[in-house]
Amino acid sequence: MDIRELQNIIQENGVVGAGGAGFPTYMKINDKADTILLNCAECEPLLKLHRQLLYYHAYEIMQTFHMIAETVGAKEAIIGIKKSYVQTVNALMAHIEEFPEMRLHLLDEVYPMGDEVVLIYEATGRVVRPGGLPIEQGVAVFNVETVYNVYRAVKSGKPVTDKYVSVVAEVSEPVTVRVPLGATLDEVVACAGEVTVKDPVYFVGGPMMGRIGAGSDPVTKTTNAILVLPKDHVIISKKNRTSSIDLKRAASICCQCNTCTDLCPRHNLGHPIDPARFMRAASNHDFQDLNPYINSSFCCSCGVCEMYACPQSLAPRTLLADMKAGLRTKGIRPPQGVVPVPVKESREYRKVPEERLMARLGLSRYDKDAPMDERLVAVPKVTILLSQHIGAPAKAIVKAGDMVTRGQMIAEPAEGLSVGIHASICGKVTEVTDRQVVIAAV
Ligand code: SF4
Ligand code: SF4
Repeated sequence: MDIRELQNIIQENGVVGAGGAGFPTYMKINDKADTILLNCAECEPLLKLHRQLLYYHAYEIMQTFHMIAETVGAKEAIIGIKKSYVQTVNALMAHIEEFPEMRLHLLDEVYPMGDEVVLIYEATGRVVRPGGLPIEQGVAVFNVETVYNVYRAVKSGKPVTDKYVSVVAEVSEPVTVRVPLGATLDEVVACAGEVTVKDPVYFVGGPMMGRIGAGSDPVTKTTNAILVLPKDHVIISKKNRTSSIDLKRAASICCQCNTCTDLCPRHNLGHPIDPARFMRAASNHDFQDLNPYINSSFCCSCGVCEMYACPQSLAPRTLLADMKAGLRTKGIRPPQGVVPVPVKESREYRKVPEERLMARLGLSRYDKDAPMDERLVAVPKVTILLSQHIGAPAKAIVKAGDMVTRGQMIAEPAEGLSVGIHASICGKVTEVTDRQVVIAAV
């Protein structure tokens, strides 16, 4: 298969990064990649999805990963996987000899190992420049479910219509299920038995970088996990704080210990992000040196500074995110051509062990198996968003009253960076807006 053909199949079938921001995968099929990297680091604590999907579908995923390597002409295909995922490592080792360009890179149980920039450094020793793309270093990174979706698209012409989601924490039966895109969070949580706490809050994604979601929110192509938490859990409390109070707290109690900078994973890779300097400048309204503000663009929002490092429970990540958003609104672009300084020698000793992180955030008791059930969950209605990826939203090509079948394209890729969207159930279209298509099962 040539590159253009594979890109077309992936775009038409709506494959995007199955997690994170949903970067359209066809853009990563690039002959500048001499190395491709499969991300099975399960970046955040409590996530259980990728290790299981890779265990159950090891051969299909390896075959597809090999096909991508051949198509782009990559010399090396690396599977980055935590060494603690023993069952999955064994499943991969059973086939690895068949793929001479492939190797496993075993990773430690530290956070944020699944961050692309960190993973690339760990697996290849290359540093992506601040604000740069992995492909500039000759690397393309894919997550496990994304490659499985490429497999389904190439092998059987099946578009992305459903999503694997883990439901964990305050539920009686943690589980990883396969649900149609557009099912509600309430419907997904109902698959995990009883909710074991009064007034639960749904936290969508991992505990470090996730968001609070409503029960009626639809599942999208990037929904990986739902954490069901008590409303007074520390993660929820931190999320509900307001930035103006955070800034006042920083002015009064930041002791300038520098721990947030010392532990910042991007800073330790030589990027010019310095949360301690930013906190000092922002809380004192000091604008003599603008670099701490402008360099907020290089924060990846991993949350190490505010969820783990800061002894005063301050919120550098949130304030940096506000600064980034403010700069964007004012049309101020991130500095270009910034060259990283050498990786800090102390980096090895400043990694954040996941076990410690979970203990500090009160999550250790939720670290249980969430077994995978691959039967598709049936729902009476789906609300499918037209923007589930970075780039332009897809353009609806159905109207209210149309009958659709599962897998049928209901929105085509828009001009520019975009992918198609497909019906996730058979039924009747009941609503079409600029934002979504609603389908009722028949
Ligand atoms: S969130 Fe904090 S620790 Fe993470 S990159 Fe940004 S400043 Fe560094
Ligand atoms: S870790 Fe907290 S107290 Fe220390 S410098 Fe950073 S924000 Fe200030």
